[in-house]
Amino acid sequence: AADTRESLYLVSEFANTYFQKIMHKTDQGKSIGLSYFKERGFTDETIKKFDLGYALNEWQAFTDEALKKGYQLEFLEKTGLTIVKEDKRFDRFKGRVLFPIKSMSGRVLGFGGRILINDKKAAKYVNSPESDIYHKSKVLYGIYHAKQSIAKEDNCFLVEGYTDVIQFHQTGITNVVASSGTALTPDQIRLINRLTKNITVLFDGDAAGMRASLRGIDLILEQGMNVKICSFPGGEDPDSFAKKNTLEELTLYLEENSKDFIQYKASILFEESKNDPIKKADTIREIINSISKIPDTIKREIYIQECSKIMDISEAVLFTTLAQINKKES
Ligand code: ATP
Ligand code: MN
Ligand code: MN
Ligand code: MN
Repeated sequence: AADTRESLYLVSEFANTYFQKIMHKTDQGKSIGLSYFKERGFTDETIKKFDLGYALNEWQAFTDEALKKGYQLEFLEKTGLTIVKEDKRFDRFKGRVLFPIKSMSGRVLGFGGRILINDKKAAKYVNSPESDIYHKSKVLYGIYHAKQSIAKEDNCFLVEGYTDVIQFHQTGITNVVASSGTALTPDQIRLINRLTKNITVLFDGDAAGMRASLRGIDLILEQGMNVKICSFPGGEDPDSFAKKNTLEELTLYLEENSKDFIQYKASILFEESKNDPIKKADTIREIINSISKIPDTIKREIYIQECSKIMDISEAVLFTTLAQINKKES
């Protein structure tokens, strides 16, 4: 199995080089792929740093080239780069710009491919399928380029998408990774946990982004990590916001708007429910439920005290609720 994996790594590395060559050296690559990235405001340096590429709008250009270079169909199929149907072969990525997804040590594991024109009929992003080298629940996009600064800054920004990671780098913030289309998993959090105990979740300023990030947060708390949350004005995501602002402005925004998760959750839920006793009771249980995920007893106690103030309810009641939740779970 180890030698299969090695073959999959080699195929993926070849594809990574190939897709970049197509983008930089062919007319179609330059006029469609490269200009797409340029229009999004990515510099040549950024495009190179993230090995961005382009797949020709043809059925089997990549597969033909790989076979010609001696890569075996078996491995092309196992990485998902080639789709085999009966006796026909198709390239998975066709007429899309590509974002290679790398491991902590910088090996190419798979790709995300973005469509060029938003079209309701086609998926905006197509990603490599699971393979012996690509397990999407264990990978964070950008971890290879972020690992040093995550450790140095002792904080990791967590965003949703490829372009959020890239635009942050270009603006000058490099301790950032993306979960890329999957709900955050315990294994992804563990990767970050090796580098820092602090995560700041930056979600898209839309309802979907907010829901996605709230779900991941209890998982982060369970690993004993500290979570802050920072949202962006309506309609903005970290990419679009970073693009409009200087490093100084972005840094200031993040500093001023990152809120401790428990306080954040308590204050929004409290605003929503303060005039409705039944809703308020649900809210309290929901917050206490998040607090119950925190392994550290002292931290739990501090949060209980703070929530008692924010929600205007006695600490005793909150501790009783906590005890009930703990009892139910054990
Ligand atoms: P862009 O700015 O190019 O529109 P985005 O990153 O802002 O991209 P979102 O719609 O916010 O796109 O989605 C966040 C992330 O979720 C994407 O970067 C991608 O990894 C993943 N994703 C989005 N749509 C799909 C899809 N149809 N299939 C698989 N993954 C997807
Ligand atoms: Mn979104
Ligand atoms: Mn987005
Ligand atoms: Mn975006």
